[in-house]
Amino acid sequence: MIRVLRNGTVITMDEKRKQKYEKLDIVIEDTTIKELTTHYEGPFDQEIDETGKIILPGLVNSHTHLGMSIFRATNDNYNLQDWLNKKIWPIENQMTDEDIYYTTLLSCIEMIQTGTTTSNDMYFGINGSLKAIKETKVRSVFSRCLMGNIEKESFDKIEEFKDLVEKNQGNELLTFTVTPHSMYTCSKEYLKECKKIADEFHLPIHMHYCENQAEVEGIRKDYGKSPAEALQELGFLENKLILAHGTWISEEEQDLLAQYDVSIATNPVSNLNLGCGIADLVSYQKKEINICLGTDGQGSGNNLNLFYHMSLVDQLQKAKYQNPTVMGSYDVLKMATIQGAKALGLEDKIGSIEVGKKADIIVLDLTNTEIYPTVDLITQVVHNTESNNVDTTIINGNILMQNHQLLLPIEEEKLKKQIDKIIERLM
Ligand SMILES: [Zn+2]
Repeated sequence: MIRVLRNGTVITMDEKRKQKYEKLDIVIEDTTIKELTTHYEGPFDQEIDETGKIILPGLVNSHTHLGMSIFRATNDNYNLQDWLNKKIWPIENQMTDEDIYYTTLLSCIEMIQTGTTTSNDMYFGINGSLKAIKETKVRSVFSRCLMGNIEKESFDKIEEFKDLVEKNQGNELLTFTVTPHSMYTCSKEYLKECKKIADEFHLPIHMHYCENQAEVEGIRKDYGKSPAEALQELGFLENKLILAHGTWISEEEQDLLAQYDVSIATNPVSNLNLGCGIADLVSYQKKEINICLGTDGQGSGNNLNLFYHMSLVDQLQKAKYQNPTVMGSYDVLKMATIQGAKALGLEDKIGSIEVGKKADIIVLDLTNTEIYPTVDLITQVVHNTESNNVDTTIINGNILMQNHQLLLPIEEEKLKKQIDKIIERLM
């Protein structure tokens, strides 16, 4: 099957190209981008006229919890620790696999409708969420959230994760990370077990890290050293590491982390909502630490629409530094695309529109009156794009949404009723 996307303005995110965007035809053969050219004259099965539209690589959400859609915007007036203890964990303890199937399904649809094609997910109830992820054909870096100490139940979670990885080899849309929840929910012994699995299966480690100052103080007390040194003691710095949040990292610790394959997945909306602070991304960038972008779950992040989250990233840095030149829109777009792919070890497959990469592509229509006209395209994409501007979402060559119509056999109204029932029962 050969598809041609004709005459769109393509923001490739390919650093090797001279221009940030240009008018191109994109030729997709099955799952893969086969050709990028000003005018394709070869054979095709389907052509789609994208004149006047903007095309970019599908966005990469580098930290989220897809099963959390029922907690959407439940964080008002809570700090992180109280919110988890009082609002989230007691309800999560009662959620069944079936509940998590529906809550994840809702999140997958939200992703497709807002132009995200890959998510780095951390949750439990894996049978339910995996079913939803497979049904919606989104690309997922999947896991089983690991929390605990040396008790049997915690080790059962590791066995469950190993089983998950072994049973799901060969699925093109699915890769895995080992996800100890954080240093404050896992004992040292348990974290060492998590590392063993990462080594054995050659997988990255994805965990929450230094989200607020209380967490940093707790780690300092438990380990008698800085959080980055604690990571070093655990051997985690030898692994590919995705640290979610990293809101509070001292200059010294940044220097240490910069020597390793560490990515910081920043979650600005979640950090603002929970009063955690503003990560010093300008400094991380200077030290060449790879920064990628996450939404966190909808509970603290409000939504999975990465366009909404992107718009805050550089603005916060400009305000923090009282200097509008410290970070620009293109830096932010890189965090949500190619740098996300790099963090997840998928930079050879996704994150930019290049020949040989997988066809994870989104199409935007930016012609609605309230955001008209588009003069500076990159700034417009990062700062003025709303979910209703996402026209088409393609993952692995599959068109999942076109002309704003979801092309999956899922009845959204029925799904909402299922979600309402879960809320009625649990909340
Ligand atoms: Zn999180």
